[in-house]
Amino acid sequence: MTGLHEFLAARYREARAREESKWTVRDCPFEWEWRLDQNGEYVQAGRVRIEVKAFVEQYGESAADPAVLADLDAKEALLALHVPDSWNGASSHVGCKECGQGYEVHDWGPKYPCRTVRLLGMPYADHHPDYRAEWRAEQDPS
Ligand SMILES: [Zn+2]
Repeated sequence: MTGLHEFLAARYREARAREESKWTVRDCPFEWEWRLDQNGEYVQAGRVRIEVKAFVEQYGESAADPAVLADLDAKEALLALHVPDSWNGASSHVGCKECGQGYEVHDWGPKYPCRTVRLLGMPYADHHPDYRAEWRAEQDPS
């Protein structure tokens, strides 16, 4: 069963791939048209059919929003800090490596997923079929 950490990492990978796939055309010296047929997308330039990948490599440039990518960088950095930790397997208690700092093993510390990771998941709470209700930020860690 996938945990919230893996769920969020997958959502961030998907969002990054979506954003990085955006592109625009610059300085193309000929008229062209974006087309789609049963074989997929292609670029038609006069009588010449050009594969999208080759066209983008030659005339395209990224249209990814730097703010969106920076937002993903920040969320991924937070997620990289807040990872499950079971004190090197010394305990069945799984806490958060970041939030558990300062806790002794016998204190246990907050259980994983911690509040930070739960809050990161909230944008998906009512909008993604794989999001589980027990991940909600207002729920106590179980
Ligand atoms: Zn944490």
